Parts: sequence; structure tokens; C-alpha cells
Amino acid sequence: MLSELIYMSDVQDEGLGDGGVVTILEQSRRRNAAASVTGLLVFDTHHFLQCLEGGREEVTDTYHRIAVDPRHHDVTLMCVSDIDERYFPDWSMGYLGVTAPARQVLRRFSPNGVFAPRSMSAASVSAMLKELRSMDCGV
Ligand code: FAD
Repeated sequence: MLSELIYMSDVQDEGLGDGGVVTILEQSRRRNAAASVTGLLVFDTHHFLQCLEGGREEVTDTYHRIAVDPRHHDVTLMCVSDIDERYFPDWSMGYLGVTAPARQVLRRFSPNGVFAPRSMSAASVSAMLKELRSMDCGV
């Protein structure tokens, strides 16, 4: 059974520590590749928004590890769904900073083009992440 999980969180006031988001991506890609977890991480220096997809158990285990990571807080689950296929099959963890091209997509889902996932509905967040798939998010 394939599952998709989307959560958001806030960066700790002290910041991300050594290596910043690069370290997070290295850890994520290594562990996700081993567990066949794929997805997309969006980050704007204050907030994270992440989609994890894969086997139900693997996605659950990954989320439990992430949720207790001291680099962020107020980790809030937005939705968990069964899916027939992955939206990000080639990305062990795609990454997107909220740059000008991303803001153009964002503007269609969030008032003022501000990246404020807490003010968005789960449906909007999910649709926005899928739209961001067309952007070059690297792996
Ligand atoms: P270890 O590497 O043994 O670390 C032990 C503890 O220290 C854990 O609580 C860990 O969270 C914390 N930790 C590890 N590195 C640092 C550091 N540099 N600074 C401060 N604390 C640290 N992991 C995935 O596997 N897949 C993902 O998709 C993923 N996405 C993430 C997204 C965000 C926004 C964040 C903040 C983290 C993400 N991680 C992801 C990393 C995850 O939280 C764990 O750090 C990682 O999976 C290693 O887990 P571990 O139990 O082996 O911890």
C-alpha cells in the first residue's frame, strides 16, 4: 500500500545548525533511498513543507523520526492518504527554496504569494506541491 504524508513545521529560532538544509537533504536522501521513500521538501528559511511518499510503514517511520528532530518545531500533520502512484517517483527528496519562480506558483494558492503553509488548506497545499513538481527541484 502506497501512502502520501504532508506536514509543515517551523525552523528553530536558533536556526538549522551546521550545514543547514544541505545536511538535512543529505540525511534525507540517503535514508529515503534505502527505504524507497520519495518526496519534496520546500523551505523558505522560516518554514518547512514536506511531502513523503512510499510504503505506509516506511513513510510512518520516516515521519516519526522527522517529527522529533530538534532542528524544527510545531511539526503539524496536514494529510495522509493512500495513493495509486507516486507524484515524485524520481526524487529521494526533491528540494525547492521559495525563489522567484516558485513564488509565481505560490501566488496561485496563497494570498500575496507569501509562503505561509499554516494559513492554507490541506487541499491547497497538496495541489501546490504537485504543481511544484514541474519545477527543477534536483535530487
Ligand atoms: P541520528 O542521525 O542518529 O541523530 C540522532 C538525533 O539527532 C535525531 O533526533 C536527529 O533528528 C538529530 N540530528 C541529526 N542530525 C542533526 C543535526 N545536524 N543537528 C541537530 N540534530 C540532529 N530524514 C529522513 O530520513 N527522510 C526525510 O525525508 C527527512 N526529512 C527531514 C526534513 C526536515 C525538515 C528535517 C528537520 C529533518 C529531516 N530528516 C529526514 C532528518 C531526520 O529528522 C533525522 O535526522 C534523520 O532521519 C536521521 O535519523 P536518526 O534517527 O538516524 O538520527
